[in-house]
Amino acid sequence: MKVNAYAASSAGSDLEKFNYNLPDIGKEHVDIKVHYCGLCHSDLSMINNDWGNSQFPLVPGHEIVGEIIALGSEVKGLKKGDKVGLGWFSESCMHCNQCMDGKQHLCSDTEGTIVGRHGGFADHVRGHWSWVTKLPDGIDMAKAGPLFCGGITVFNPIVLSGVQPTDKVGVIGIGGLGHMALKFLKAWGCEVTAFTSNKDKTDALKKMGAHNVVDSTDSDDLESIAGTLDFILNTTNVKLDWNAFLTTLAPQGKLHTVGAVLEPMEIPAFSMIAGEKSVGGSPLGSIALTRKMLEFCVRHDIYPTVEEFEMQDVNKAIKHLHDGNARFRVVLKA
Ligand code: NAP
Ligand code: ZN
Repeated sequence: MKVNAYAASSAGSDLEKFNYNLPDIGKEHVDIKVHYCGLCHSDLSMINNDWGNSQFPLVPGHEIVGEIIALGSEVKGLKKGDKVGLGWFSESCMHCNQCMDGKQHLCSDTEGTIVGRHGGFADHVRGHWSWVTKLPDGIDMAKAGPLFCGGITVFNPIVLSGVQPTDKVGVIGIGGLGHMALKFLKAWGCEVTAFTSNKDKTDALKKMGAHNVVDSTDSDDLESIAGTLDFILNTTNVKLDWNAFLTTLAPQGKLHTVGAVLEPMEIPAFSMIAGEKSVGGSPLGSIALTRKMLEFCVRHDIYPTVEEFEMQDVNKAIKHLHDGNARFRVVLKA
């Protein structure tokens, strides 16, 4: 099948029209006609080869929703015409201990949807059936794409860290991932502090459910809430004063990063020792938890706040995100 896509031909280049051929479909694979695809900061990092694992030409896009148009003979639980989503991972080995334990996102042999293969800034994309998730009936397709990377990435640590409804929590960086974290944690029942470097977002963040808004770059602001938070989720990829955030944690609090901070994070040992605090991180989440997250979204009517661009305007969309103007997740319409 011929796929019409948009690709970067080298690190940092604009995307251009690009065609490629998909070989005959494998027994366990599913072909999806793309309806919408979210634009994640990881797409920017891959285009720029920030992580050193990009292969060009590179078709970004890993927050895909669409419709199944073809499937292999051994695909389970899916049929032609199903509305589905596909996120960062498109395949895992399905036989290692992590996969057998239902933690396929921790498989050492996962295939990234845009790593060494082509993603969702295209009219079609292929994935292994296990990572192709059926959408709940009635879900808004125009807004559901970002749940498959950004959404599950911030939902997973809430479950992983055992966040309680009685907890006071913080989210650092209210962009694509951060605003979904804020909505999830509010629905979870927590008191939520939004840490932002852009005070112009304050009204929007309060409307979204933030109880408090604190400047993520102001040491005095951070000092003023010392010892109060049980859990902080970092979604930025920049260097911040991590020790100041550890100070805002209550004893036994946890600082968890999903933001791919490019520089090593400075974490003074004594800031963890004194109050039995911890620091962690995580990638995406399991297939089963993705399904549970979708149910949670439907139950609480939680959707990402999206700005829609036509797929052909992908370079404008990328610039919009790069310049810090996205409110809060850009979605491309195929
Ligand atoms: P995004 O929409 O660009 O949001 C990032 C936010 O970080 C911005 O909105 C901004 O929030 C804050 N920020 C940016 N520059 C800053 C600066 N100089 N100082 C302080 N704050 C700053 O990005 P995203 O799509 O949410 O992705 C966030 C990160 O998560 C990226 O590193 C991405 O690669 C990573 N990621 C990781 C996983 C995983 O598996 N762990 C999955 C998906 C994405 P404010 O304006 O509120 O300050
Ligand atoms: Zn992503």
